[in-house]
Amino acid sequence: MQKNIICVACPMGCGVTVEIADNGEILSVTGNTCKRGDAYARTECTNPVRSLASTVKVKGGIYNVVPCKSAGALPKDKIMECMAVINEAEVKAPVSLGDVLVKNILGTGIDIVATNHCPAK
Ligand code: SF4
Repeated sequence: MQKNIICVACPMGCGVTVEIADNGEILSVTGNTCKRGDAYARTECTNPVRSLASTVKVKGGIYNVVPCKSAGALPKDKIMECMAVINEAEVKAPVSLGDVLVKNILGTGIDIVATNHCPAK
């Protein structure tokens, strides 16, 4: 089987072709112009992951929400479920940059952390 993907590891957006055997083994990766593209294509075809950025509601802060991100890459097929958890989450002010807002989201081992401060009112 042949899979054509766009590498999103950098803004170049190279078109990458991956040859995959019937047993799922990756036979070749072509079209990438660097090693990061090779690694991205292999991961995308075997265990696709994505980083997540969003906001979490804040109670008693000078802002109503604080920006956040996943501290690591999350399984692509869990992104929508993770967003549902983040949308339901609410933390108390003050929030500091780097605070864990949702620990071990959906048992993935990845925390959702604040990417900015939110002082209390
Ligand atoms: S293959 Fe390399 S140069 Fe091309 S998009 Fe991926 S990371 Fe960028």
